[in-house]
This record gives sequence, structure tokens and C-alpha cells, in this order.
Amino acid sequence: MRIGLYPGTFDPITLGHTDIIQRAMALVDRLVIGVAINRDKGPLFSLEERVAMVEAECAPILEKTGGEIIVHPFENLLIDCARDVGASVILRGLRAVADFEYEFQMVGMNRAMDSSIETVFLMADARRQAIASKLVKEIARLGGDVSKFVTPPVEAALKARLRR
Ligand code: ADP
Repeated sequence: MRIGLYPGTFDPITLGHTDIIQRAMALVDRLVIGVAINRDKGPLFSLEERVAMVEAECAPILEKTGGEIIVHPFENLLIDCARDVGASVILRGLRAVADFEYEFQMVGMNRAMDSSIETVFLMADARRQAIASKLVKEIARLGGDVSKFVTPPVEAALKARLRR
């Protein structure tokens, strides 16, 4: 059984994330979505809210793909989280060149800590490649339309959170 770990902050989950999740389901039998607590990033949504949103967004994906998805909050080192959940592969999305430098370093350092865990990069569909949670929040904060970037429930959650 191949287990993959897809880690992120998911603050909130976007159509870019769900695109990657669908692709990942074709590669693994069980996908563990690691939701990082990430206090440093000062998330807009609490860990519980982010986990609930990821779970809700994954339900229709699972119906299509079958397999198994587990949403797993984590606070420890990524490589330790991968070992904890029995993952042999870490899945990451790759957007633009900007992501590359950071990901390059992460792979190098994770590999030094555990060479048995491989990192695989996936690219979203062209229409979803530019989506980033950070920008979605900024657009929503300024009253813009985020319906092309997130599902209606996530859009509603953003509106409710950002309403003054
Ligand atoms: P963000 O960087 O948008 O705050 P996360 O930290 O939650 O998002 O990202 C988790 C993973 O999902 C990372 O590997 C990131 O590169 C990937 N990802 C996020 N958005 C996209 C996208 N639009 N296309 C491809 N990968 C993405």
C-alpha cells in the first residue's frame, strides 16, 4: 500500500490545492493531507476550521477517485510526520519559479534526514497554477471576487471571517 503525505497550511484550501489532491490520488492508495499548525504564519482560520474545510472539499474528490484520504494536523518536523503516518512519498505542488528555490532546499535537507522518503512535485491545471491562499485572502479582504479560486463554501467562510 503506497501512502503519500501532502503537507501545507491550507489557509484556506483553494482550487489549486484540490487540483493537486486529485492528481495525487492517482499515485497513492492513501493520501494523508498534513495540515500544518503554522502559528508563525498567523493563519486566518484556526487549525480546526482548516481541517474541516479540507475534509469537506475532499469528500467529492474521493467519490470520483476512490482510495483513502486522511486529514492529519501536524506540528512536528515534516519528515517526522511522514514517518509517523507511514508515508514513502511527500507530494508537493509546484507553481512558478518562485516556489522552486524553497522546495529545492527542502528536498535536499529532508533527504539528508531520511533518504528513504521521496518528494514528488505535481503541477496544477494551467487555470489553477497561479492560485495562492495568500492572494486569495488579500483579494477577499479588499472585497474582490474569489469565486474562480475557491469553492462556494470556502468563499462564504472567507466573507464571514473578513466581514467587519
Ligand atoms: P500557499 O503556499 O498557497 O499558502 P500551502 O502552504 O497550503 O499554500 O501549500 C501547500 C502545497 O500546495 C504546496 O506544495 C504548494 O506549492 C501547493 N500549492 C498551493 N497552491 C497551488 C497551486 N495553485 N498549484 C500548485 N500547487 C499549489
